Amino acid sequence: MKIARVETFILKAPLGSDTFFSSQAAFPERTSLLVRLTTTDGITGWGEGGQYGPAEPVKSCVDDVLAAQLLAMPDASPGVVWETLYSRTRDFGQKGTYVEALSAIDIALWDILGKSLGAPVSALIGGRFRDSVKAYGTGGYYSSTEFDADRDLPALAETVSRYASDGFGMLKLKVGLLAVAQDARRIATVRETLGDDFALLADANHAYSASTAVAIGRELEANGFLFFEEPVPPEDREGYARVRSRLDIAIAGGEAEYTRYGFRDFIEAGCVDILQPDICVCGGISEVQRIATLASTRNMRVIPHVWGSGIALAAALQVCSTLPLTPYTHVPVPLQNEPVIEFDRTRNPLRDELLTEGFALEDGRVRVPDSPGLGVNVDLSVVEHYRVDAGAPASAM
Ligand code: CA
Repeated sequence: MKIARVETFILKAPLGSDTFFSSQAAFPERTSLLVRLTTTDGITGWGEGGQYGPAEPVKSCVDDVLAAQLLAMPDASPGVVWETLYSRTRDFGQKGTYVEALSAIDIALWDILGKSLGAPVSALIGGRFRDSVKAYGTGGYYSSTEFDADRDLPALAETVSRYASDGFGMLKLKVGLLAVAQDARRIATVRETLGDDFALLADANHAYSASTAVAIGRELEANGFLFFEEPVPPEDREGYARVRSRLDIAIAGGEAEYTRYGFRDFIEAGCVDILQPDICVCGGISEVQRIATLASTRNMRVIPHVWGSGIALAAALQVCSTLPLTPYTHVPVPLQNEPVIEFDRTRNPLRDELLTEGFALEDGRVRVPDSPGLGVNVDLSVVEHYRVDAGAPASAM
């Protein structure tokens, strides 16, 4: 297959009074960088690149550098394109925006390959173990940067109760913005609200030094949380290993890591029990398979990080359907050995409106689309509504 047209789209959806906070930043808007590729036969594919960072540099990597190389390739098969473009940007790429741009291109190429063969991406990368994936809700963010127990704890209880009544049986809470003693009260509130049987996870977005992470990790353990995500900064691999050796709770991380090379080092340093590559960041569908293979040699669970638009979610669902039980048992248990999908519940019109058919929770699970490619259709009127750039498409000469 040969690519005839490369287009990029920066979408932004302001959140206004729904602005929320993690330990690292305010989220006053949701942003996505989408790539649409068109083959000489007229088949189109969609991809997404990056997560929290600004979309403009990723767009530039595609528009100003990678598009011309992609258009010149006689065979734009995903594996060939990945190795070629990564090799040509190695000296100045390796991590960050170039790999995010390559991720978007790779996802779009898999979408095209599936459509050209009439098969979902899951079938092309080995086939499905499951047609739906158990979801955990990501929520429990901060609505303010200042802690007011009388205001915030009842509001948090109401929020997580709503997730439970929406059908979730598994939920991830944010920690790390506040002092340990304050976050400990939020942790206890969520457990008291949802009861002992509800599966709870926590995410610090690398807010802590190792010793502080151990202190809050003990609060999570006392409340029966099942994993502790990004306790320390991603560069602090020794800190990760120290936290992991001192706590019993499973340690998760990897959304800020790139490619098989970065994950090789992250895995070998003993950082985590659960690996969380983001498919729109780590190198796309091609590379997440290689990362998952590395993880499998260590009996390590892989639960992709998902944050972006409906395209990111569709790519993650296709991949999650193909991940084996780790380790195998006769009866799978979600999270314990069966892969689960991160289902962000914060407000994001780009996730909820972009696709002509959205993703719904059914019995706590999300169905994996059966249609060819990523299995989803993008509503172009929604793209135009949220688009803030007006780049002319790069076309074949
Ligand atoms: Ca996270």
